[in-house]
Amino acid sequence: MLPTTLGGIRHSRRKVLGALAASGVALATGQPQQPAAAQSATRVPVLCYHNIDYSGSTYAITPELLDAECQWLQTNGYTAISLYQLFNAFATGDALPANPVLMTNDDGWTSSITFAQTLIARGMIGNYFINNYSPLSPSDILYLAGNGPVQAHTANHQYMSQLDPATQSAEIVNNQAYITGITGQPVQFLAWPFGDYNASAVQAARDAGILAAFGLGGVACYVGATDLFDIPRIMMEVGDTLDTFAAKVNHW
Ligand SMILES: [Zn+2]
Repeated sequence: MLPTTLGGIRHSRRKVLGALAASGVALATGQPQQPAAAQSATRVPVLCYHNIDYSGSTYAITPELLDAECQWLQTNGYTAISLYQLFNAFATGDALPANPVLMTNDDGWTSSITFAQTLIARGMIGNYFINNYSPLSPSDILYLAGNGPVQAHTANHQYMSQLDPATQSAEIVNNQAYITGITGQPVQFLAWPFGDYNASAVQAARDAGILAAFGLGGVACYVGATDLFDIPRIMMEVGDTLDTFAAKVNHW
């Protein structure tokens, strides 16, 4: 299911700005500036993809554009990393390659196979967040798991902040069980549906063994200067070109 509103995006962006303000980073009014505290931190753009097809839907880009974006990233010295590498950089200070980028694909649409094939052809790792009702077959999901971690996006893709704590927990735990039952791999990362969550949802995630969770927000992640349960991602959308892609990746 695709987001039907950008409200979650605005919500998440406010949180990012609020967190930066709380950390003493001066915020410019008007045109966003790179936060001063982030200048010494490792910058990781986390890119959020959905459909890779010709549907023209809001969050769809074509296979040709995806391949051109991957080529652009490699030409410009970026190295795709896994969310485990990103987490370890936060948790233990593990070094990341120069110019790291995290490629994520949401919802488990059938075209996530196209996403995986494109990245595999270029030797890049992907990261996948799927729901229990994804149309992907178990063998499809195993194929994705061969490219990178397949992780949680909740069972039914609800607005988590609107659910009671018991349902929040069930949404996460049932999704973990579904994915692990197919891949045999642990599920320790989560992407919030619509970028939406609240304090009890974070607690439910922690209780389920989730180590970090991804939101939206449109800005890069800075290792050590980002809330691990609201790691911002940059949305890829219909109408993107290689120029707008480069601007998004380079935006603070
Ligand atoms: Zn989603």
